[in-house]
Amino acid sequence: MYCSFCGANETKVIDSRLVADGHQVRRRRQCLVCSERYTTFETAELVMPRIIKTNGNRDPFTEDKLRGGIQRALEKRPVSVEDIEQAIRTIKLTIRSTGEREVSSTMLGNLVMDALKELDKVAYIRFASVYHSFENIQDFGEEIARLEK
Ligand SMILES: [Zn+2]
Repeated sequence: MYCSFCGANETKVIDSRLVADGHQVRRRRQCLVCSERYTTFETAELVMPRIIKTNGNRDPFTEDKLRGGIQRALEKRPVSVEDIEQAIRTIKLTIRSTGEREVSSTMLGNLVMDALKELDKVAYIRFASVYHSFENIQDFGEEIARLEK
C-alpha cells in the first residue's frame, strides 16, 4: 500500500502480530522512501449475500438490522447477550454457506424464527406475529398450537 506520508508505494512490514483475539492482524510498516512508520490493521471481510425483499428490491445485508429485530423480539426475556450473538453468528454462517450472491428475505426470516424457537418461545411468537402479520387472537392460537406439537 502507499505510504500515508509521502505516497511512495515501497513500504515494508517491520512487525506483524495478531490482535483482537486473533481476529485482526496489526502491522507496523515503514516507508522505504521517507522512513516514516505507521500501523495498519487487517480484518477478514466476510462477504454477505444481498437480501431480496418481497417487493423485489435488493438490500445489503445489515447485521445491525438483524440484531435489532432479534433484540426487539427478545425484549425483557431471559436470554443472554452471548446466546443472541451466537444465534446471529449461526444465521450469518448459514446464509453465507448457501454460496448465493442473493438470498430471499423469506429465508432470512425463517432462519430468525428457527433461532428464536430455540432461544425463547415467547420471543418466537412475538416475531412470528409481526412477520406473518397476525390479525387476530386466533392466528396466535394456531401458531402456539403448532409450537406445542
Ligand atoms: Zn513515505
